[in-house]
Amino acid sequence: MDMTRLSNITVLGTGVLGSQIAFQTAFSGFEVVAWDVDDAALEAAKVRFRKLADRYIREDFQGSAAGKAEAALGRLRYTADLADAAKDADLVIEAVPEQLELKRGIYTRLGAVAPEKTIFATNSSTLLPSKLMDATGRPDRFLALHFANEIWKFNVGEVMGTELTSPAAYETVVEFARDMGMVPIEIKKEKAGYVLNSLLVPFLNAAGELLVDGIADPETIDKTWRIATGSPSGPFQIYDVIGLMTPYNVAMADPRPKSQAFAKLLKEEYIDKGKLGVATGEGFYSYKKR
Ligand code: NAD
Repeated sequence: MDMTRLSNITVLGTGVLGSQIAFQTAFSGFEVVAWDVDDAALEAAKVRFRKLADRYIREDFQGSAAGKAEAALGRLRYTADLADAAKDADLVIEAVPEQLELKRGIYTRLGAVAPEKTIFATNSSTLLPSKLMDATGRPDRFLALHFANEIWKFNVGEVMGTELTSPAAYETVVEFARDMGMVPIEIKKEKAGYVLNSLLVPFLNAAGELLVDGIADPETIDKTWRIATGSPSGPFQIYDVIGLMTPYNVAMADPRPKSQAFAKLLKEEYIDKGKLGVATGEGFYSYKKR
């Protein structure tokens, strides 16, 4: 087989990211199988896909309003049977919950039923692929392909192999990322946080510290960054897009006093008041329509 030409893609997990990956892949012309744990999860997936199609249409993303988004829905097949999901797959992209043992369990089951040719890619944000590779039974055809939330807009696909990933499998996934509308980011060595989060996390932490230390308010910090760097958004605008629950959980898990102070501030000033960011209409800023 010409490994660089893929046609059948399977996505495991149809939550926040899995649904976006499956839909964007179908939107780009691939046949996609969406797998999830049971029929209830697949029903929820159908609702997510419909909402994504509506969002693409509303934004008229790359001809979506002219029928392209509806056509994408027609290229999605649903199953809760892992062997059925894997049977024709050229590539399986895994987006199941971020828990090591849960992911390893899925890879063990998947490795037993997927054809020899199938490449596996994890979308894990924090688990290095080398922590999963032995469970796959095919470490040469396993690597990470990491997306950013709202993948059609923030379209980077970070491709990161392990020492055992074959160059052919790596190249195939780089090409696939391009074919499904991402800008492939080729990462040369394993690195926790990939490129994006290696830059973003310390940046956001620094902004949080400036706030809890009383150095400047969010508007001033954001304005400084925007004007002086030409960037469209400052760190607190980015916090609002991410949603404040994730930064809260991350800060809570970090015992350092400044992280704990930032977690307390996020909880008391924002989260307890229902201000979770753009998704709820208010976070550090208000997005409510007047
Ligand atoms: P999510 O909780 O929204 O979705 C997880 C999906 O996996 C659900 O559809 C769930 O039904 C399914 N699932 C499959 N097997 C399961 C099992 N055994 N138990 C429970 N659920 C099971 O999660 P998400 O935010 O889409 O994250 C999925 C992966 O994508 C994670 O590895 C995460 O690190 C990564 N990721 C997330 C984001 C983000 O912004 N949310 C960004 C980049 C990468």
